Amino acid sequence: MWMNPIVNHLIQLQELTQIRVEQKAHRHGHRLDELDASIAGLTQQLPSDVRSTVARMQKRDTLIIVPISNGICTGCGMKLPTSLVQAVRVSEHIQVCPICTHILYYPEGTPRHIGKLPRRTEPRKDGIARFSSQALMIPRLKAATRDEAIRELANKLRDEGYVDDAEKLMDAALKREAIVSTVVDTVMAFPHVRGVEGGGLTLGLGISPKGIRFDEREKNLTRIVFFMVIPTAASAFYLKLVAGLAETFMDSEARKLLMAEELPEKLWKVLVKLTKKKVV
Ligand SMILES: [Zn+2]
Repeated sequence: MWMNPIVNHLIQLQELTQIRVEQKAHRHGHRLDELDASIAGLTQQLPSDVRSTVARMQKRDTLIIVPISNGICTGCGMKLPTSLVQAVRVSEHIQVCPICTHILYYPEGTPRHIGKLPRRTEPRKDGIARFSSQALMIPRLKAATRDEAIRELANKLRDEGYVDDAEKLMDAALKREAIVSTVVDTVMAFPHVRGVEGGGLTLGLGISPKGIRFDEREKNLTRIVFFMVIPTAASAFYLKLVAGLAETFMDSEARKLLMAEELPEKLWKVLVKLTKKKVV
């Protein structure tokens, strides 16, 4: 399938810009200079008219380009005219949403979120329970490597009916990890996949008893892996969730409590309890 090269370029640029915001949210400002240089390089390569559009948008937020899902702009939720959807698929010119003005693209090969909507009879959830559940807890990861850990968590999300394709999910998470590692404070990692179609923000948690070499640059091993699947519409939520988790588990006592549990139901209970104040 043909993909507009400018669109490709903009997706990369957006990815880097969002990583930059994440690095700041983690509060460790790791490799910001490197990211800034890559962002400047990519921006410079854009045609000048696109560059000025992007500069204008970046003043507002980090979201520049959003996928169309089922004929709907995922930036604002508006149903788009069929002619516009068609233009996005074939035109060499960039197209913007008439409502939210984000640049539009037609996604190909992104994993789909198939999580069922909660039943109305279920009580309204709050805190971490909005994004995760006991079924997504792995208190004893079997994985010995980063790739295996991501695979184990991606399989869990598929097996529990949250995503359709664990392979695609794993590939996307590893691609993201290759740009800049998601390790925070050595012991924790936050691998994730953005731009998943549909559904809600979903979090799986795995604990490695032995530790995993998640990032070659880190001296110590990673023990706690938060794996997240992020629909475009949930980008802002995601940053809040990551900041809340990072803040909660910067505390080594909190980490110890999490790592001590051997059963999914116990791990889930501890996660809910510890994140109560920071994830709301
Ligand atoms: Zn829109």
